[in-house]
Amino acid sequence: TYITYDEILNFWAKERPEGPAIEQDGRITSFAETDRLTRQIVGFYWDKGLKAGDRIAWLGKNSDLYCLLYMAAARCGVVMVPIGWRLAPPEVSYILQDTGAKLLFTGDEFAEVGREIAPSLPAAPQVFSESEMRLAIPRFAAADYEPAGANDPVLQLYTSGTTGNPKGAVLSNANLFALRNDALDAELPWTYYEPNDCMLVAMPCAHIGGTGLINIAAVSGIRALVQAEFTPLGVLEAIESGASQMFIVPAALQMVVQHPRARETDFSNLKYLMYGAAPMPLELLKEAVGTMPNARFLQAYGMTETTGTISILPPEDHSLEGNKRMRSAGKAVPGVEIRVVDPQGNEVPRGEIGEVAIKSPSNMVGYWHLPEATAEALRGGWMHTGDAAVMDEDGYIYIQDRIKDMIISGGENVYPAEVESAIYGHPAVAEVAVIGVPSEKWGEEVKACVVAKPGMEVDANDVIAWARERVAAFMAPKSVDVIPLMPRNPSGKILRRELRKPYWEGRE
Ligand code: ATP
Ligand code: MG
Repeated sequence: TYITYDEILNFWAKERPEGPAIEQDGRITSFAETDRLTRQIVGFYWDKGLKAGDRIAWLGKNSDLYCLLYMAAARCGVVMVPIGWRLAPPEVSYILQDTGAKLLFTGDEFAEVGREIAPSLPAAPQVFSESEMRLAIPRFAAADYEPAGANDPVLQLYTSGTTGNPKGAVLSNANLFALRNDALDAELPWTYYEPNDCMLVAMPCAHIGGTGLINIAAVSGIRALVQAEFTPLGVLEAIESGASQMFIVPAALQMVVQHPRARETDFSNLKYLMYGAAPMPLELLKEAVGTMPNARFLQAYGMTETTGTISILPPEDHSLEGNKRMRSAGKAVPGVEIRVVDPQGNEVPRGEIGEVAIKSPSNMVGYWHLPEATAEALRGGWMHTGDAAVMDEDGYIYIQDRIKDMIISGGENVYPAEVESAIYGHPAVAEVAVIGVPSEKWGEEVKACVVAKPGMEVDANDVIAWARERVAAFMAPKSVDVIPLMPRNPSGKILRRELRKPYWEGRE
């Protein structure tokens, strides 16, 4: 039996009524208040004609109000769909259209966009801004409801759209908390929590690294410190003011450790730093470990479809001296099975490359409105991830890259992440992405797209020579483009497909 959001909120309201559940800009909502406010919000939902199974959407930055609207929905079986505010209006419309959301809640600065889009949608959702909601909620009495069960969907999160259109992963209560249940007796980050711990939620709530952390804080009975959006300074300040746990993507971690204030920051409150969601360049990881020597680092590997983390590289594998595992994404957490498989779905021998397949109680229910994509991703309960990896004898996985991004050059397979990690250490390079471009001779050839460090110039031949010293000759780039800005999606991932586009137009 799995716990549900309703049980969790009831439990902590009794156990830690005065304990802080959610904090934003110094505004603290206790567990007792969270319990009461979410019941009133259910009253609001019923008043607007919602029923269990209906979709509602949030378009806005991270907010304590979002946390409450989401938790209220999860209690009574309404499905929350958070939408990335950095997405362009057509992408927002696409997601809203896809979900058929009946109510659209927005941050105040997005109310106008929301009101523009809403009438053109088939479901013509009613739009409520954050300020309107803050006034409305107190006018409603706590409502009765049938608590959503373990297998009822409560959250619909769209994938980051790194490889194509974002897909809506439908997640149930069981998906959200299954691994937390199993983990209660195991040595895992979410059981490291003590009552005074504080989880920094700085990653966008439309990403599993945002709402997933809200869930972990809730089930653990600790404070979720919500920041509207990620800023490096905000993270440094949060750590000094008591944040003890956080999750961050590599691009954001780079901004944090390279921020001028990082050198004067006292990191002693930070107990665990989880990172992941994209390949982590080794040089950057070492720099981060050196900057925060007392924090325990955990690499997390997972995806929207697995409700986040399903493998972890533990702190002991992050020592700076002679550590061969620092490149690994770790081992399956208890309750999860990971296999590396061939295209037929058979496990390949250890040490050989294949696709990561995952069996986990946190695997999504399915993609919303995409039965074919669902059938292709979930086969016999195994989530086929599209990630290429190698597993060693001890069960540690080494993510190579997305299968879709693999470059075939002269018959050799090149995984961009490995080449990027090597080039990343170049003194003049701030950011790098590696792609395949058409080549008469090789079929595809390796190209590096780099952004220079401020005030520096990048010499293409120098970058090529640098790479040749560090990776096999066939992996080293044949050409280098110096670009002003790295295209990234709202979760900070490099959009290699944007960089590839001009070279492949009309050919693929
Ligand atoms: P889309 O599925 O729409 O193309 P996406 O896969 O980027 O977007 P997410 O679900 O946010 O959407 O990201 C999951 C992916 O992120 C994984 O499949 C993997 O490719 C990558 N990833 C996650 N954690 C790690 C990690 N620790 N190391 C390397 N890559 C990671
Ligand atoms: Mg994906």
